[in-house]
Amino acid sequence: MSATTDIKKVLIVGAGLAGLSAAISLAKLGKEVTVIEQSDHLAYGASITIVNRGPDALQELGVLDEVVEQGFAGWNKSLYDDIFDDAGSRRPISPMPIREDDGLPSYILIYRPYLADILSRKATELGATIRLGVAVTSVVEHGDGVTVTLSADETVEADLVIGADGWRSALREQVFPGRITSTYSGNMSMRWVKRNPPPGADGFYITDQSGVVVIHNLGSDMVYIATGTDMENRHIEQDEAVELFREVLGRFSAPYVRALRDTITDDDEIVVRPYVYHNMPAPWHLGRILVIGDAAHTMSAHIASGGVMALEDGIVLGQELAIEEDLGTALLRFARRRAQRTFVAVDACRQMLDLQVNYQAHPRDVGRVREHAFRELLTAY
Ligand SMILES: Cc1cc2nc3c(=O)[nH]c(=O)nc-3n(C[C@H](O)[C@H](O)[C@H](O)COP(=O)(O)OP(=O)(O)OC[C@H]3O[C@@H](n4cnc5c(N)ncnc54)[C@H](O)[C@@H]3O)c2cc1C
Repeated sequence: MSATTDIKKVLIVGAGLAGLSAAISLAKLGKEVTVIEQSDHLAYGASITIVNRGPDALQELGVLDEVVEQGFAGWNKSLYDDIFDDAGSRRPISPMPIREDDGLPSYILIYRPYLADILSRKATELGATIRLGVAVTSVVEHGDGVTVTLSADETVEADLVIGADGWRSALREQVFPGRITSTYSGNMSMRWVKRNPPPGADGFYITDQSGVVVIHNLGSDMVYIATGTDMENRHIEQDEAVELFREVLGRFSAPYVRALRDTITDDDEIVVRPYVYHNMPAPWHLGRILVIGDAAHTMSAHIASGGVMALEDGIVLGQELAIEEDLGTALLRFARRRAQRTFVAVDACRQMLDLQVNYQAHPRDVGRVREHAFRELLTAY
């Protein structure tokens, strides 16, 4: 196998959090990095919550200050302190573990397009090339490299290809056909960002059966509203999504939820996605092709950690490529380090969804699983 020092050209498929984190980390190592993103824009219009070691990851990537500036950060408190019942009264809760008081925020909320923009600017500043509106259509490994075919019949050569192409990763299916089956949890997520919101208390509005509406202030006069509903897994068009979202928020009587619901217009964008999960055991590579981020591990928002795991993946990959001489060993060590940690996160989400969807469990019991996972995920990546 080749030496890590022989890896000069790296091609990353997908400019999500995993792809951009890997781009920054590998550009810092002096690699010639190209990121290919099929969409003509970075990220969709929803919020992301960064918890546990996420702020450390952002700091290591060199973007923490800007993310804090453009988002909404909390210090020495848990995001899960503010829990209400569906009528809007505060619920007593056992406190969630948070990072020690070390000067970094305990959590950050940020509009996803802002975070993507910050990360892509950092990657570009370090010399990476990001190409939007171009898809990878095939990847063929040969003796000493990989030939990558892009849409518009262009081919490029790379020494290492990283599939950061999301939970439905075509690259993973090509390299590891049938190895991963994503399991649908029975719950469909729905997300909305409201500009100039009415006044109200942020937090988690939770029914006794763990139906939940999350409302978070993102700064910049934006509020993020997320919920989910138990249903079959199928494609939902925008007009149905708006109706469904109204219907689900209508199950809550909290005045703030009602006030926000009243402002939904038929043209609002509701981001709908099934909550699925999978976690791929090591290895995550075959030869010179590696998968990272949601391609290797995907989960729900229940512990706000899928994006943080994706950011951590990029950093740990950089660490292993920097210290290991042999490429195969570096990639194997990388996946072994990551797969166990991502299993903790994925499994917590799986348990929480199961308790919620199949057992209509009390929020206290669902919260216990989150608490356990947070203790693990607060340790160093
Ligand atoms: C409802 C919901 C809420 C969530 N909330 C949080 C949260 O608060 N905090 C948190 O940490 N995590 C959260 N997550 C998880 C988080 O969003 C994901 O784990 C994370 O975005 C995964 O990043 P990624 O880069 O691996 O994949 P993606 O973000 O899916 O990026 C993959 C990219 O690859 C591109 N691509 C795919 N195929 C090709 C191709 N052939 N050629 C070129 N480009 C291609 C896609 O267009 C896409 O841009 C949430 C998830 C859901 C469903």
